[in-house]
Amino acid sequence: MSNASDTHVVVVGGGGTGAAILYDLVQRGFKATLFERGELTCGSTGRHHGLLHSGARYVVKDREVGRECMDEVRILTRIAPEAIEANRGIFVAFDEEELAFRETFEQACAEADIPAQWLTSEQVLAMEPRLNPGLLGGVMVPDGTLDAYRLPMHFFAGARKLGAVIRNFTRVESLVFEGRRIAGVTVHDLRTGADETVKCDLVINATGGWAGRLAAMADIELPITPAPGTMLAHQGRLVNNIIERLRPASDGDILVPQRGLSIIGSTQWQTDDPDDCTVPDADVEFLTKAAIEMVPDFKETAYHKAWAAVRPLAGASSTEEEGRELSRDFDVRDHAKLDNVEGMLSLTGGKATTLRAMGEKTVDVVCDLFDVDTPCRTASEPLPNYRHFFRQGVLV
Ligand SMILES: Cc1cc2nc3c(=O)[nH]c(=O)nc-3n(C[C@H](O)[C@H](O)[C@H](O)COP(=O)(O)OP(=O)(O)OC[C@H]3O[C@@H](n4cnc5c(N)ncnc54)[C@H](O)[C@@H]3O)c2cc1C
Repeated sequence: MSNASDTHVVVVGGGGTGAAILYDLVQRGFKATLFERGELTCGSTGRHHGLLHSGARYVVKDREVGRECMDEVRILTRIAPEAIEANRGIFVAFDEEELAFRETFEQACAEADIPAQWLTSEQVLAMEPRLNPGLLGGVMVPDGTLDAYRLPMHFFAGARKLGAVIRNFTRVESLVFEGRRIAGVTVHDLRTGADETVKCDLVINATGGWAGRLAAMADIELPITPAPGTMLAHQGRLVNNIIERLRPASDGDILVPQRGLSIIGSTQWQTDDPDDCTVPDADVEFLTKAAIEMVPDFKETAYHKAWAAVRPLAGASSTEEEGRELSRDFDVRDHAKLDNVEGMLSLTGGKATTLRAMGEKTVDVVCDLFDVDTPCRTASEPLPNYRHFFRQGVLV
């Protein structure tokens, strides 16, 4: 068995996935350094709706993804309660076709152990009086609102406390090879302009929608589809629970109350350049209409902002239709086994809700590689508050 403290792991990408991996690594005794080219969480992590998925959205298509989300809701509510609002999600039937989907939906929830409770139209309207009064009922599930920034910062706070090195505004420019083995990274510090080589025993590619680019530095073609989507926020909190449409997941069917804002999402397209996330004008019109259908008062509220983020979908796809069929599950890819390149793992897929599970599965693979026998503890130990990240910064 190896000594984890002699093993240096470099994590590339300072989103939620990188944060959870970094924390799990140092908690199991590895030496770890994370590089993020911008501010922490500046990628998709800091820009999604903030919907803590119970899994109900995915469960009809994929029971396992549904079950995994529900497990993570239970865990995250325990270990990071300050990042989560204890509201609920209601999948509302606004027409007969959506009402007809109820049975399929409830059965899938039951099979994945997702608590689901039918509410009559009167009960839904008593909870959410601004919803379209023509609604026909809804199913309440344990979705929640999560703070897209605070949740990963809890993990960063924990990682830093345990000795992880976190270097933001530092871009990984290339991979350093010793034969077919990756033995380090070269980085460029965007604040000082300095270039540096950092040696390590393993690189973890947690760059989300950019993961294909890092893999390409090792001549690896990663099966990943960067799929951006638009979200639109209006001022005012029009609902207190997350409202979704009782139908197979589609565009413009999620309304999330996020502090004093109402966020409607989303859309989906595909891009070769994850840095190009310009919001199409048509998306704003489409999402506004979709929100008004669910909550007529949306048309009276002030526009706040429209923005986009990139989904790092696992799997290759050449058309948008194919992209929509890709699973929302995640994959930890060991390039030694798959591409004959040692020294790097890549993450594809997943969602903010499953960041901790992604960390656990990745570090399980790291432990196997280095013959380390330390079990994961992230599911049971409460995280330090996100504020500690900054307090540690002040004290250092
Ligand atoms: C429209 C939309 C809505 C969504 N809504 C939700 C939701 O409500 N709930 C949910 O659970 N999930 C949601 N998701 C999914 C979620 O946003 C992503 O799955 C998650 O944020 C991905 O996190 P990540 O850490 O893997 O990637 P990112 O947060 O994108 O992090 C990758 C990081 O890598 C950095 N990077 C890239 N290249 C380099 C380099 N060479 N050197 C250093 N750093 C580099 C980037 O700057 C970036 O910060 C949504 C996604 C979209 C598109």
